[in-house]
Amino acid sequence: MKRSVDARQRELKVHLTVLVDEKGKPIAKEAPIPLYTPPVFQNVHNAEREVVIIGAGPAGLFAALTLIEHGIKPIIYERGKEVSERKRDIALLNRNEGLNPESNYCFGEGGAGTFSDGKLFSRSKKRGNMQRVMELFHFFGAPDTVLYEAHAHIGSDKLPTIIKNMRECILSHGGEIHFETKVESLKPHLTSPQGEEKGKTVTPVILAIGHSAHDTYRMLAAEGVKLETKGFAMGVRAEHPQALINRLMYHLTKPHLTSPQGRNTPLEGEKEGVIKYLGNASYSLVTQVDGRGVYSFCMCPGGHIVPAGSTADTCVVNGMSASHRNSPFANSGMVVQINPEDIPGDDPLRGLEYQEALEREAFKQGQAPLNSPIEGGRSSAPAQRLRDFVEGKASKDLPKCSYLPGIVPSRLDQWLPPHIGKRLQQGFRDFDKKYPGFLTNDAVILGVESRSSSAVRIPRDPETLQSVSTPGLYPCGEGAGYAGGITSSALDGINAALKIADLA
Ligand SMILES: Cc1cc2nc3c(=O)[nH]c(=O)nc-3n(C[C@H](O)[C@H](O)[C@H](O)COP(=O)(O)OP(=O)(O)OC[C@H]3O[C@@H](n4cnc5c(N)ncnc54)[C@H](O)[C@@H]3O)c2cc1C
Repeated sequence: MKRSVDARQRELKVHLTVLVDEKGKPIAKEAPIPLYTPPVFQNVHNAEREVVIIGAGPAGLFAALTLIEHGIKPIIYERGKEVSERKRDIALLNRNEGLNPESNYCFGEGGAGTFSDGKLFSRSKKRGNMQRVMELFHFFGAPDTVLYEAHAHIGSDKLPTIIKNMRECILSHGGEIHFETKVESLKPHLTSPQGEEKGKTVTPVILAIGHSAHDTYRMLAAEGVKLETKGFAMGVRAEHPQALINRLMYHLTKPHLTSPQGRNTPLEGEKEGVIKYLGNASYSLVTQVDGRGVYSFCMCPGGHIVPAGSTADTCVVNGMSASHRNSPFANSGMVVQINPEDIPGDDPLRGLEYQEALEREAFKQGQAPLNSPIEGGRSSAPAQRLRDFVEGKASKDLPKCSYLPGIVPSRLDQWLPPHIGKRLQQGFRDFDKKYPGFLTNDAVILGVESRSSSAVRIPRDPETLQSVSTPGLYPCGEGAGYAGGITSSALDGINAALKIADLA
């Protein structure tokens, strides 16, 4: 039923939850069995009720599927392209042939979750039926492991097919999806029950725009939707050789693999066996520096760093991995908590401006001095060896890195705001105390990891889930500031749809 690995101690432990019969015998010999009720989707071609959904990320898609289960027709507007066409734009971006501002790692079918690591877990257990999210992913083609692994992972090679299967289900049951259709005003979609439409059935609008659509936030502000600044985090993405992370996290540096039988030296091949069984190691690190959290975020073992910006004059990095997680690199966001009071002013969008300013600086720093400039700039990223960054030294050269558009030596120690840079330096020292060897010049950091969470909240009524300023508008997912990551965003979409279904 559940499998988790505890590698914190020298003796690795695998915890299993097993379903047994009354005699204590495991019920299923071959794990896992899909112990869930498959969803039943209704024909909504001519459904009486319709719901507009803006955004086809995890929140929008799971909302649409849930509406169809309840006999309601979803009409989805997505600014990006469908997943196979989106792949082509992403290939161009990785080859440094330009960014399509409407079709990239953030925008397009499946949202930011499509070309991601596909880690499926949420830190919060309180938000609702997380297992249902896993079941729906499984139903649409995710591997059995999503049903029982504590830290389930799909991978960017498998996600596009799953997303395509979801789309086909939505369309074949009568839902609509309009790609390459950016919503530039809520007015055509939203009719307020307070206005002249009073008494008329209002078509609810689920707003599932993610947190990278800064232009859409600005449109919402201009149209009077209440927005507020929320805390977020920014920093860099660090990349180590995966072999080093395996050694540190699985404690493979010493002959300590003591088995319960008392053997205290590893047998030939045992170390490799550990990795074969457990997969490349990941880590989760956290410390406090000067009153703010410094932590690893979205760690991708055996993965790649990717250009995750959505405008041509910014540099944003993030990470992904394929299902086998077998690249020789281990990357992770390393971010510093930023509170609203850290940014002067009272504009609810000031967090976005703070993000954008640093992203533009990273872009500038990442441009020099490569040849063959392209229109709109390259996607190359500024980088510094990790120990050099912490010690405030220039890196004479850079190690190999998974980031396809290329990296450029840069003094991140000098141009990151001290609020972030100094804390990161101390954070890396702290992490090295915990895992000696983590702070090494074999690792490199790239700037900037700026989109780990939303800098804006679209406040909503906790009971009705509708915007506090705009009746009929259901802000949900990561862009609403109530979710972070694939599973919690998907669940938030389900909850919005259930709320609408209940109002029938
Ligand atoms: C490279 C990368 C790797 C990641 N890895 C992981 C991971 O391993 N695990 C994890 O849990 N999370 C990961 N994340 C984060 C995760 O993808 C997001 O948390 C999640 O996708 C948020 O879901 P969402 O539906 O709220 O928004 P999004 O996925 O951002 O989707 C929003 C959609 O709305 C569309 N949109 C925006 N504005 C408009 C408009 N005006 N009109 C029409 N459409 C619009 C966008 O094009 C987009 O498709 C990763 C993100 C990135 C970029």
